[in-house]
Amino acid sequence: MDAVSGLGQARRVVVKVGSALLVGPDGAPHADWLADFAADAARMRARGQQVLVVSSGAVALGRRRLGLARRALTLPEKQAAAAAGQSALMRAWEEAFEPHGAACAQVLLTRDDTEVRRRWLNARATVETLLGLGVVPVINENDTVVTEEIRYGDNDRLAARVAQLVGADVLVLLSDVDGLYTADPRKDPAARHIPRVPRLTPEVEAMAGGANAEGGVGTGGMATKIAAARIAAAGGCATVITLGSRTRPLAAVEGGERATVVEPATTPAAAYKAWIAGSLAPAGALVVDDGAAQAVRRGKSLLAAGVRRVEGRFDKGDAVLVRDEAGREIARGLVRYEAADAERICGLKSEAIEGVLGYTSGPLVHADDLALAAHAEA
Ligand code: GLU
Repeated sequence: MDAVSGLGQARRVVVKVGSALLVGPDGAPHADWLADFAADAARMRARGQQVLVVSSGAVALGRRRLGLARRALTLPEKQAAAAAGQSALMRAWEEAFEPHGAACAQVLLTRDDTEVRRRWLNARATVETLLGLGVVPVINENDTVVTEEIRYGDNDRLAARVAQLVGADVLVLLSDVDGLYTADPRKDPAARHIPRVPRLTPEVEAMAGGANAEGGVGTGGMATKIAAARIAAAGGCATVITLGSRTRPLAAVEGGERATVVEPATTPAAAYKAWIAGSLAPAGALVVDDGAAQAVRRGKSLLAAGVRRVEGRFDKGDAVLVRDEAGREIARGLVRYEAADAERICGLKSEAIEGVLGYTSGPLVHADDLALAAHAEA
């Protein structure tokens, strides 16, 4: 089974933990479940795997803190509850991870942070830095400031965006059901469990809709989970939907307990390059000499030394075209310098950049951030 989930081999895993797992009916955190979860995550970290947590529970915890009755809350009340509950949520996570010597870091995101490119790059750089420092990022939506129109609204989707943001291999959605069924298992005794979804077809979507859509406690039912799996799959990430209320649900999946695995449609690296090639409007161009053109075609970074001319106005992080002197497009990439700085360093050797600009960000466009034009492969 684990060969199917890939959890044992994954390099980077995003785990979505919903409110129902974290907060009891009395409005207090489930400290025992959290302690077990942290031990489970620590086991994976000890194997060299990176674990990111997308955690709900701010509103549920804040409700108790603010003494708000158990009725439907207005949006401003929910936002106030989230503000009060988020710190309680972080304390619960910190207490759970502390015995394992792991520090947690709070990351609050809004939809713009994963959709506006510059913010996306910034969020990605911060989370990468946290992971590099061995910290467990604990991510939630910044409920306090988002309005209805700009919310993710549910943490399944947020978790899928995070998986995409960090190029995770596996997204685990801890749920109140142990996966996808052909029909709602609580209503239909003939419902069959589906262990593996190689591709998200309309048939699969239909199973997750209808009766199963109401399946989940909290915000997201099965339809939301499949929508999240679709985002993850496009980002090259597998999704594991499994029962979260088990003790150590991650070890349980590795041990072969029931789960549904939605396979990725591509690899994280290929998905990232497709995003650069397809969905960003270039803000300018770098015209390169033959040597640089060949190097880029062979998968190398674009160095300042090989750039003849800079066109357009762009900021650091913008998408630019890479063209040869005959005007042919060779690649698109995310540039590491703003246009004015790029102009000052074009033609220079890498060692000379710092002397001219007072800083260096490395190559003009790093190989990882370059997507070759279809006809340009060497
Ligand atoms: N962000 C919300 C919270 O922390 C939860 C959203 C969800 O569970 O999908 O309370």
